[in-house]
Amino acid sequence: MRDDNCIFCKIANGDIPSKALYEDDDFKVILDLGPATKGHALILPKNHYANIYKLPDEAASKVMLLAKKMTIRMTEKLNCDGFNLVQNNGEDAGQTVFHFHLHLIPRYKNDGQTLGWKSMEPTPEELEDIRKIITE
Ligand code: 5GP
Ligand code: ZN
Repeated sequence: MRDDNCIFCKIANGDIPSKALYEDDDFKVILDLGPATKGHALILPKNHYANIYKLPDEAASKVMLLAKKMTIRMTEKLNCDGFNLVQNNGEDAGQTVFHFHLHLIPRYKNDGQTLGWKSMEPTPEELEDIRKIITE
């Protein structure tokens, strides 16, 4: 289940070298080449899934357990002050490499990074409308 044109398939399966932090049968965790902070890493499944919509349930379960394990280990080793898990799906959501990956981003007091969004100010009616759309 690889895509021959996918750079993360090549990295996850060892065809292209990377700075690996962890590897098992299903995943490789590597340092991001353009890190947001010191230690920014990516969890890559070895199989090619373009995004979360394509990710099988079993891989989805395993990826969160691995994220927890890596977060705990990296926090201990890096002595960081907080941690962001980020996962982008689709170009409009900021995805640039179309092989599922979960960003592990250690955060440090005053690290100067801004990961976030501008808050909207919905009315109670607008909140209810969107709740209905999603749940009905
Ligand atoms: P996205 O924007 O798709 O969520 O994240 C893609 C991430 O992959 C970016 O943070 C970028 O720095 C990283 N990246 C892109 N190409 C490579 C590569 O060849 N090697 C590594 N280690 N990271 C990469
Ligand atoms: Zn791939």
